Amino acid sequence: MEQIIETKIKKYSRPTWAEVDFSSFRFNLNQIKRFLSPEVKIMPVVKADAYGHGLVEVSNYLVSQGIEQLGIATVDEGIELREKGVGVPLFILGNVFPEELETVVEYNLIPTLCNLEVAKRLDEIAREKNIFVKAEVKVDTGMGRIGVLYTETLDFFLKLKELNHLVIDGLWTHFASAEDEEFTRIQLLRFNFVFGGLKQLGFNFYHIHSANSLALFRNKETHFNLVRPGLSIYGVYPENSLREIVELKPAMSLKTRIVFLKRVSQGYPISYGRTFITSRESIIATLPIGYGDGYSWLLSNKGRVIVKGNYAPVVGRVCMDQTMIDVTDIPGVSLGEEVVLLGRQGGLEITAEELANLSGTIPYEILCRIGSRIPRIYKDG
Ligand SMILES: *Cc1c(COP(=O)(O)O)cnc(C)c1O
Repeated sequence: MEQIIETKIKKYSRPTWAEVDFSSFRFNLNQIKRFLSPEVKIMPVVKADAYGHGLVEVSNYLVSQGIEQLGIATVDEGIELREKGVGVPLFILGNVFPEELETVVEYNLIPTLCNLEVAKRLDEIAREKNIFVKAEVKVDTGMGRIGVLYTETLDFFLKLKELNHLVIDGLWTHFASAEDEEFTRIQLLRFNFVFGGLKQLGFNFYHIHSANSLALFRNKETHFNLVRPGLSIYGVYPENSLREIVELKPAMSLKTRIVFLKRVSQGYPISYGRTFITSRESIIATLPIGYGDGYSWLLSNKGRVIVKGNYAPVVGRVCMDQTMIDVTDIPGVSLGEEVVLLGRQGGLEITAEELANLSGTIPYEILCRIGSRIPRIYKDG
């Protein structure tokens, strides 16, 4: 029995929707826990609208499952979560501007410090309010994105010592290529050097963390006392080889219905640019979804969908709001028939990894791209 819990958009006319199954989050969290020692906590990353699954709905569900902290990318995401009543600690993994710090404090978000200017301003705000403010320090050990360079972190902490309204209780880093064992090892050595040095200097941290999904499954030494899985929480593999060591269940399915069905003769062109010409008499169905919804134009003449327990190819170019498929070989297809673009039907499955391979991107982007025009429907089981 499928129980529909909540829809983000109350009324929608177009029969295209994304289903998000909470039971997959439960399953994936348990799978992740099997790789962790009991003292290691999980901070699911819910940035980018929870990888397209719905920021508030997913966060609330994860908190209901005992999750005690969430990772976000921006101050705006933190504001939205707080305004919707999410009360757990929220860690901003991105850099913040000094101008955002008043808001960070007002909404009780935990910022990442990567430079002294931000740290000083945060300390100033805390001093004015006569409070202590928590923050974490990000160490750049080889990602080259944000963070204090690992060669400069010890000196950075000595400067922070004077800012006595800050409570720096977290130290973390991020891997550039968790699939590359050697470089990950180098980054870990650098991080441990910084961490060890700070311990000797008398600094203590509540949170030490480094692992994203791939690192957490690949290397226990990256766990410290907190891990930051994103993609794997949503049931998608950051790398194919992980399938051999862990089973994950995708939380999101993308579905639509056939809105137009026609029989055309051999030699008939389909869609913009006439890149597909029927090679036989064909039955072509039109789907009300396109690249305007995040179903990539790059899937033109490449993608496939599931109809009545069979795969059907995308034919011609994907349009902004519509896509055509060839259902000639599938008997009994009718108007209104349900079509799966991502997810399972019967024994068949289309994964985010498949769509990523076909369109020359990574599964992360496939999920994040699923547009706001598509309602998310939440169910459990
Ligand atoms: C996005 C992000 C993660 C999650 O990465 P996944 O590969 O999705 O598990 C972890 N840490 C940081 C800093 C991130 O930006």
